[in-house]
Amino acid sequence: MAWIWYACAIVCGTGGLALMGWSLFGDRSRGRLRCPRCWYQIGPAVEAYPVTCPECGRTIARAKLLHRTRRRWRWTAVALLIAVVGGGLAVTPTLQRDGWAKYAPTTVLILAYRYAQPPKDPIIIHLESHFQKNDWDQIESTNLRPWQNALLARQCAAVLSDDEASVAQRNHALSLLPALGPRAVAALDPLVAIIEEDRKDELWDAVNAIRSFAPAGERAIPALTALAVRADSTGAYYTDTVIEALGDYGPAAEEAVPPLVVLLNNVPKGHFGGGASLKVVIQTLGRIGPGAAPSLRRLVQLAPDVLPHLRADCIEAVGAIDPLDAPCRPLIMAGLLDAEVRIRDVSAAITVRHEPLLTSTLDVLIEGLNAEDPQERLRAARALLSLGSAAAPARSQLETATRDGDRAIRLFAIEALAAIAKSESKDSLVLESLTQDHDPVVARAARRVLR
Ligand SMILES: [Zn+2]
Repeated sequence: MAWIWYACAIVCGTGGLALMGWSLFGDRSRGRLRCPRCWYQIGPAVEAYPVTCPECGRTIARAKLLHRTRRRWRWTAVALLIAVVGGGLAVTPTLQRDGWAKYAPTTVLILAYRYAQPPKDPIIIHLESHFQKNDWDQIESTNLRPWQNALLARQCAAVLSDDEASVAQRNHALSLLPALGPRAVAALDPLVAIIEEDRKDELWDAVNAIRSFAPAGERAIPALTALAVRADSTGAYYTDTVIEALGDYGPAAEEAVPPLVVLLNNVPKGHFGGGASLKVVIQTLGRIGPGAAPSLRRLVQLAPDVLPHLRADCIEAVGAIDPLDAPCRPLIMAGLLDAEVRIRDVSAAITVRHEPLLTSTLDVLIEGLNAEDPQERLRAARALLSLGSAAAPARSQLETATRDGDRAIRLFAIEALAAIAKSESKDSLVLESLTQDHDPVVARAARRVLR
């Protein structure tokens, strides 16, 4: 039936055009001398200027004024209106087929967002053409301008504050906010309201959205804190994200740390493992760094009781907070002597970063290399290997250790010497001589590290 619309459009278009032509050019002078105000024909000729119109009394100064074209502006306006109607009729079939959203500017779509019903609404569909989604169909980012992101964030806030909004609308707004980045802070109030009203199904999304603009929106901290330490949050699906969100407010550590310490204290002593949340609490405290000092004592206390992977996290957190604190030093030292390679590596990395720690540690390890107990010598050699090139001051003791009676100690010493030599790009004579060792395993190890 589109032809009816097109036919009407053609009629309106041609009619409007004709009317416009007539109203503007239909009544030209054609040699007549007319008053430019009342259009009275003054005469076939005028003898002298100025001349006065006998009808309306206007004084006309020049001949040109008497040759004016009479324009009917009201009819021009009517013609324009008809032309606009014609244009509207012409695009009607297309709009009926595709919907107006296809032709609307992005900003108009954003302004209409709060009235759209996901997921089928053309407004949503065309707006989503500006979004990048990941493999799970989650919106990752938008290629909108920053001010458009801010405008969209306010529209999302309007949806979340609207009691009439549907679940689909709320969910879409919540999934969209993290993609808007720092601009999503415009939706802070309704997000905090979700936490305070304890809308269970939306808690994770709300906290995740808050994470996307933290550390802006510090007003969220009290709500996040209350949620983190609430009894029913233990093991809940959103708890880890809440803890991480508190970690995002590192600059406001004095507010964010106490609830994390409460969580740390809630883990019963001897509770091995402790689950994912404990790991997140420990890592978050480490991420906060020196501001998390109130948690130091408990971390040191907790480390020996938890599983090795959590112990490594404890040591890493302690290292980021204050490794030079007196109770922390033995923990890092013990980590360096540990059999678990990750615990050793984490402890070594902290030790190497802090000069006073390194000096005292090297003293202890050098002493350990000379110990009676072969286990103690082994742990010392292994720890020196973990320290890498920082173990250089222990070189001569390590060279002595390559002649140890215990093969494992010899091998660790060779590796440690190789790490030192590599950083100095200098050949080690001791390693050269070891390639001819009577023990084939040691000789092979020496050749391998020299290669
Ligand atoms: Zn006149």
